Amino acid sequence: MKTAVIGAGSIGSAAALVCQKAGHSVTLFDPQGFEQKALSLEADPRVWALGSRSTQLLTELGAWAPDERLCAYQSMHVIDARSDARVTFTEAALGHLVEADWVRNQLLARVAESGIDCVSERVESVSQRGVLTLPKKERDADLVIFAEGRQAHTALASGFEIVDGGYRQMAVVGTLRSEQPHNGEAFQIFTECGPLALLPLPDRDGEHRVSLVWSLDLDTASELKGYSIEILSLTITQTSESVRGALSFVDEPIWIPLSQQSLKQDSLGCLLAIGDTAHGILPLAGLGANLGFTDVLALQQTLASAPSARGDRIARTVSRDRRFEQRTVAMVMGLFSDVFRSDQPLLQLGRSFALRTADRHPTIRSLIQELAG
Ligand SMILES: Cc1cc2nc3c(=O)[nH]c(=O)nc-3n(C[C@H](O)[C@H](O)[C@H](O)COP(=O)(O)OP(=O)(O)OC[C@H]3O[C@@H](n4cnc5c(N)ncnc54)[C@H](O)[C@@H]3O)c2cc1C
Repeated sequence: MKTAVIGAGSIGSAAALVCQKAGHSVTLFDPQGFEQKALSLEADPRVWALGSRSTQLLTELGAWAPDERLCAYQSMHVIDARSDARVTFTEAALGHLVEADWVRNQLLARVAESGIDCVSERVESVSQRGVLTLPKKERDADLVIFAEGRQAHTALASGFEIVDGGYRQMAVVGTLRSEQPHNGEAFQIFTECGPLALLPLPDRDGEHRVSLVWSLDLDTASELKGYSIEILSLTITQTSESVRGALSFVDEPIWIPLSQQSLKQDSLGCLLAIGDTAHGILPLAGLGANLGFTDVLALQQTLASAPSARGDRIARTVSRDRRFEQRTVAMVMGLFSDVFRSDQPLLQLGRSFALRTADRHPTIRSLIQELAG
């Protein structure tokens, strides 16, 4: 079977490797090329919290090995800034914090040695029968996988439709020096302007490090953007209730626009959309890439259970298997965002009740952990 994968981000590269292992003849397209990024001494601010399903898939693809840049975390402490509600998840291996570029580099290294045909061109559009239009010529494929990220330009030009899920926000991310060690604990506090997470990173030269992800409403973001880096560090120290002591940025923070979106349908004929192309969600619980890797796992299972299925059946089956979880996660993220931002007394009560219930009932905690990958 001839398979074309559009986009060599982590999700597209993993999908290409899975198809190639299943015996497909795979072509991977990305106009940005397939070079690995040189990693700097300090951790890049774009960090992912990957759960066990994602790391198992990466291990199977040969793209996961012990490395000093990885940081395992054993617990996650979530608190509400406006009540005494809190919940702690603890497990020997809850997940790993890892730079997004590190993951992509590992996958690109496997792609380079796999015999996958890598083409540094932008795919303009694809017909539902699998004819790809490139700047200079056409190509055909039996299965076409769209993993081109959120913009989804090629998917839109090929007949997919985007549903705007709203929730326009801004995230500030960055690597921070922290006075106190994290001891393998991820911390998240729900504040009235948005959830702030301090995620554990490996120490550097005897100093402690955490990664910041703070999702903010647009008004607060534009106010904070005007702060000096020292005042912003102080604001983060105070908002995080000094849980890691005094914090300071090791580099300039990065501001990233956020929103929720999904496709009306994830498959059209032999075309299949996965990763952020199919579902862009808020980074509230660090689920985006985990959801994308679960799409790849569903693709892997479909290829194993129906090895001679045609492209359209593969696309339909993966899309059907993934739809429920994708919609549930998007809905839960939206709900969390609304409930934890609100000052309405009833919602405050509900928020406190939800965290207390999760804290008291191991089954609910396990469910949330399962959802997180
Ligand atoms: C602030 C923030 C924090 C996050 N934290 C987490 C976290 O803790 N855990 C987690 O799991 N997720 C997290 N995410 C989500 C995660 O970053 C995304 O889900 C993930 O990057 C999606 O990967 P992708 O491969 O689908 O898309 P991308 O990484 O966007 O890759 C798309 C690729 O497609 C290529 N491309 C684009 N157009 C074309 C075309 N026409 N033809 C060919 N190629 C094309 C691009 O060059 C690019 O290489 C976070 C996101 C944000 C914004």
